[in-house]
Amino acid sequence: MKRGHVPVRTCRGCGVKAPQPELVRLVMRDGELIEDPLRRKTGRGVYICKTELCRTRLEKNKKLLQRCFRLKK
Ligand SMILES: [Zn+2]
Repeated sequence: MKRGHVPVRTCRGCGVKAPQPELVRLVMRDGELIEDPLRRKTGRGVYICKTELCRTRLEKNKKLLQRCFRLKK
């Protein structure tokens, strides 16, 4: 039954934990959140569910974004 190790990530929108492939990685570029489907972009990334709801929640939560990406004010 073992299928190998699948990393688990936490959605920053709703806090649910899910296997990494089920979440989408976002990175910050010039103040914009962009998707990183191949997970190859450098820099800090966050994971969220593949839903508009979680993406919107993250985008609206500036404090959370600052914490996730260590942005300066
Ligand atoms: Zn979520």
